[in-house]
Amino acid sequence: MNELLKNEKSGWEEVSQEEKDKIYAFSNEYMNFLNNAKTEREIIKETEKIARENGFKSLDEYAELYPGDKVYYINRAKNIYLAVIGEDSLESGINIVGAHADSPRLDLKPNPLYQEGNLAYLKTHYYGGIKKYQWTAIPLAIHGIIIKENGEKIEVKIGEDENDPIFTVTDLLPHLAKEQMQKKISEAINAENLSILVGSIPDKDEKASVKNNILNLLNKKYGIKEEDFVSSELEIVPAFKCRTLGLDESLVAGYGQDDKVCVYTALRAILNIQKPKRTAVCLFSDKEEIGSMGNTGMESHVFDTFIAELLNKTRINRPNLLDKVFCNSKMLSADVDAGVDPLYISVSDTNNAGFLGKGVSINKYTGSGGKYNSSDANAEYVAEIRKLFNENKIRFQVAELGKTDIGGGGTIAYILANKGVDVIDCGVPVLSMHAPYEVTCKYDIYSAYRAYEAFFKN
Ligand code: MN
Ligand code: MN
Repeated sequence: MNELLKNEKSGWEEVSQEEKDKIYAFSNEYMNFLNNAKTEREIIKETEKIARENGFKSLDEYAELYPGDKVYYINRAKNIYLAVIGEDSLESGINIVGAHADSPRLDLKPNPLYQEGNLAYLKTHYYGGIKKYQWTAIPLAIHGIIIKENGEKIEVKIGEDENDPIFTVTDLLPHLAKEQMQKKISEAINAENLSILVGSIPDKDEKASVKNNILNLLNKKYGIKEEDFVSSELEIVPAFKCRTLGLDESLVAGYGQDDKVCVYTALRAILNIQKPKRTAVCLFSDKEEIGSMGNTGMESHVFDTFIAELLNKTRINRPNLLDKVFCNSKMLSADVDAGVDPLYISVSDTNNAGFLGKGVSINKYTGSGGKYNSSDANAEYVAEIRKLFNENKIRFQVAELGKTDIGGGGTIAYILANKGVDVIDCGVPVLSMHAPYEVTCKYDIYSAYRAYEAFFKN
């Protein structure tokens, strides 16, 4: 091989049988994690459990923090920030890996239950960028919470257990879809038709209402009435299990891998950190798929408050120190990348694209239409990250999201960059991103895990 050319080989060509076994074992653990947690609330809960098993304690359990202490903070059950306090003062900066725990889905509308004809439905409002047609005629599950007026929280999860019923959004039969089939894909399914079918048995009273019968069932099971839906967060997600894909078993198919694949790999990486030089921080944000707004999105100041609390509890805080900490900090924005799909090769500039099986994918910038809205990582920082990965023999590729004029996207990178942090996007290439069933490659999953670990240890 010409030494001057960059490595274009598949990562699989370079792994020994022993490494391959490690990669497959790690992927099994990842798939198991995804099968236990499909929504941001479930991810945070599962993360807290795993973190506690590995020596992390919540912020309020510590009066003071010392190097090696492992601490976490949960914001409104939808974000978690984990930190391992370093030997160096936080003043010299921290190393952050940040991913997002939310994924595209169908949310129930505030008044979701209705009857049309002789069937009962729950109406949805989709969350994030979906191709609506992909969400019809597949098995769906309901996950979430209902908060009653008295504050009582009811947890709902229907459709995951083999004995549970599932739900679906029906679609028109091809025989009668002549008109629908002529429409543009974006218009073929009306958002108001993304209603999940929930029942067909009428109530026994004279109105014979299917809706009433469903309300009775819900009341019996959860003690709720119709108005309780307004203070609920019920998310409709695919009822598929995350599974190994392919005859060579090299790939993973699963819902919500954007961005739970980076959540899991970042979590596993920070669990390996004992007493780092620089404080290691791992954060999982919410609302990334709808613009990172709100008090659980990355745009909120709750993360700043967490870091300020670390400054308080390491006894170094003083006015404006938080700003200085951010200016001295580094981050890998751990979000998935659009993997090159050979079936749709025309959207990718293949010299600047992430391929499945070639390792963790770095995006110097994201954005669209001329880097618009992107935080473009500084060349000096890219050099630092490249050196780190090369020294640790971690396969990486440097990519853009697609051809310049075709489209684009964003991550949480710019939000931290705006605070003064050096940030670069670094994650796993995905096929069928935002579809109910997304595909990743086990080699890349493992290389992301190794990349985040090396970054924390640096
Ligand atoms: Mn993402
Ligand atoms: Mn996304």
